[in-house]
Amino acid sequence: MRLIKTVFFFALVNFTLFVQGQRSDSYWQQHVDYSIEVAMNVENYQYQGTQQLIYTNNSPDELTRVYYHLYFNAFQPGSEMDVRLQNINDPDGRMFVEGKSRIAALSPSEIGYLHPTSLTQDGEQLAFNEEGTVLVVTLAKPIPAGGKTTLEMAFKGQVPVQIRRAGRNNKEGVALSMSQWYPKMAEYDFEGWHADPYIAREFHGVWGNFDVKLTIDKDYIVGGTGYLQNPQEIGHGYEATGTNVKKAKGKTLTWHFVAPMVHDFMWAADPDYLHDTLKMENGPTLHFLYKNDPGIIENWKKLQPKTAEAMEFFSKNIGKYPYEQYSVVHGGDGGMEYAMSTLIVGGGNYSGLVGVMIHELAHSWFQHILANNELKHGWMDEGFTEFIETLCKNNILGKNEQYPFVSHYKSYFSLVASGKEQPQSTQADRFDHNFAYGASIYNKGALFLTQLGYIIGEDKLMETIRKYFADFKFKHPTPNDIKRTAEKVSGMELDWYLTDWTQTTNTIDYGIKEVSANGNKTKISMERIGLMPMPLDILVVYTDGSRETFYTPLRMMRGEKKNPYGEIKRTTLPDWPWAYSTFEFSVNRPLSTIRAVVIDPSQLMADVHLENNVWQPSN
Ligand SMILES: [Zn+2]
Repeated sequence: MRLIKTVFFFALVNFTLFVQGQRSDSYWQQHVDYSIEVAMNVENYQYQGTQQLIYTNNSPDELTRVYYHLYFNAFQPGSEMDVRLQNINDPDGRMFVEGKSRIAALSPSEIGYLHPTSLTQDGEQLAFNEEGTVLVVTLAKPIPAGGKTTLEMAFKGQVPVQIRRAGRNNKEGVALSMSQWYPKMAEYDFEGWHADPYIAREFHGVWGNFDVKLTIDKDYIVGGTGYLQNPQEIGHGYEATGTNVKKAKGKTLTWHFVAPMVHDFMWAADPDYLHDTLKMENGPTLHFLYKNDPGIIENWKKLQPKTAEAMEFFSKNIGKYPYEQYSVVHGGDGGMEYAMSTLIVGGGNYSGLVGVMIHELAHSWFQHILANNELKHGWMDEGFTEFIETLCKNNILGKNEQYPFVSHYKSYFSLVASGKEQPQSTQADRFDHNFAYGASIYNKGALFLTQLGYIIGEDKLMETIRKYFADFKFKHPTPNDIKRTAEKVSGMELDWYLTDWTQTTNTIDYGIKEVSANGNKTKISMERIGLMPMPLDILVVYTDGSRETFYTPLRMMRGEKKNPYGEIKRTTLPDWPWAYSTFEFSVNRPLSTIRAVVIDPSQLMADVHLENNVWQPSN
């Protein structure tokens, strides 16, 4: 293990603990330091820039090649994104209108592009080749394990008409939604290269530091990732309150941002943005940039204290938000998470607006601090985000529902019923149906955690989430990392759970086969019908109103959870080994006294046939 020697003097938060906290030799992640200068022409949406990238090879391997993402090249007729849009079963309605791909219809002045015009490595010219949205670069000299190199690039780009995520003039009139806009080094980590083409979704990036100087028409107001370094030259609501701004003369302003330890950099700009800030007492400064449209202002004002409440909720339940700033920016085509910021549409009703904000803010943890690979394990960011978002909404929006995850379970059950389910471990672009991707990654992904709470206990689940954050922040956690964390917290073995739930489409179906008299006692016969194993909580309700529970641990989990129904007596039965399809136990009361037997009264276990989970006497 080696340390990355980076002194990042403008970091407002001390990240040295991260640097010393790298995992064993088998894990590594690269490191990037970007300095980007870019000038945007707001008349024709073209931009030109230079980028200096100091690349640190923390891998044990010598690198002879590197790859950059050139995401804007996806927005061209004939691109992989365009073609996939035309041949997927259920294309995204934002991109496919009246039977036609919107990308296919783009004219040369409307397409997106991002083209390097020169590239050097430590001053030496490099050969490079664009392959759609990926730039393949053969290095002049290999980067040794532990070595550093400086890559300097000039590039030119054109912002596409807004089709998906980034773009110009979105449907609510935001001029520039600039995500995936710069040549972005692909990640090479302990799993190898991730130079994935941009087809539909989503992202994986290299952790590092960004220094971005953006020159743009002086009337445009900018928000996004990064701390503004020259607020007194910019104004537009960034200046210290009550101070005078000294703007440079001329038609443009140069905005200077820095962002420490992030893996992406987004910005958005519009001449009609309003800009409000809210300094949290024990938290970051929140920025809100939204169109000066009388119809939306009230909603955006109401949104601000709720953003602070959500920030507090996540910091308390996951781990402290590590940056000094978060920006909610009006733009894009729905809601999308970025480093220290989000781009959301802003014209809908208040509950939609606050819902999207809470979801995207939750992604600050599950993606922009815990940076799993979204193309490979989208359930870890979307599913975990859905989980904590739902708890947050239940709490701060005063919902207080007893079963806040009902819609997630319904979505998963209808996915199973559709017959179109693919394993969650399917690469994101290889899902045959967008709806199956959504139901699996978002909803079944949330169920990974709700159900984990059923298996290990809900207090252990929340402890797992906090430990997962503490151990894997600013890294690229994998499915095994959340599983190992839950194992360490609970003392159980959970490989079976991770494997069946995320790598197969096996389903859970347990049932009550028979309840019968056995003298003065009652025999309860259970069966396992589905392939997926689970431990069971069984509730028995008697005619006198009293209740007791029985618990069958799964043998292969080698452990037991605490009684989740503390007020009700629980009997722990012998383990139920998975291969046995039936299990019997006895209740010390006569059959006539039993009103009902119920498998998993919490309904946290995603049993696909709930009808056989309840037994009641037939008369
Ligand atoms: Zn999301």
